[in-house]
Amino acid sequence: METPKQHQHPKYIPSVLKLKCPHCRQGDMFVNRRSYSKGFMKMNDTCPVCGQPMEIEPSFCYGTGYVSYALAVAITVASFIAWWVIIGMSVHDNRFFWWIGLNAVLLLALQPYLMRLSRTVWLSFFVRYDKDAASCNIANSHSAAA
Ligand SMILES: [Zn+2]
Repeated sequence: METPKQHQHPKYIPSVLKLKCPHCRQGDMFVNRRSYSKGFMKMNDTCPVCGQPMEIEPSFCYGTGYVSYALAVAITVASFIAWWVIIGMSVHDNRFFWWIGLNAVLLLALQPYLMRLSRTVWLSFFVRYDKDAASCNIANSHSAAA
């Protein structure tokens, strides 16, 4: 049986990866949906679905630096393991240095997305998911319009 979309409860990890508001997990955090376009860091002031403010206090976004660092470390560890398993490491050739170079390129290429992801993750540490957030706001706006 199919469930209508608004009654599904989006999971934490997919909603964070899709840069959704942590309160309702449906509204977009950022004005632009694409990470690789001009103005990619422009955030909505409030969630377009539930009205959650995206910056809950002044200079709130400083904490995203820690998340961004943790993500970079996680990707580096993952790429090291992948390289080790697929290509292998040796002290007798340059494979280790190739990995360092390619990992740097990978991190640079992912940077725009990682910056957006860090903000989404950071906000999600402070804003709890409310499964009724989306429907409540829709109900409120309907009664306000009537
Ligand atoms: Zn929301």
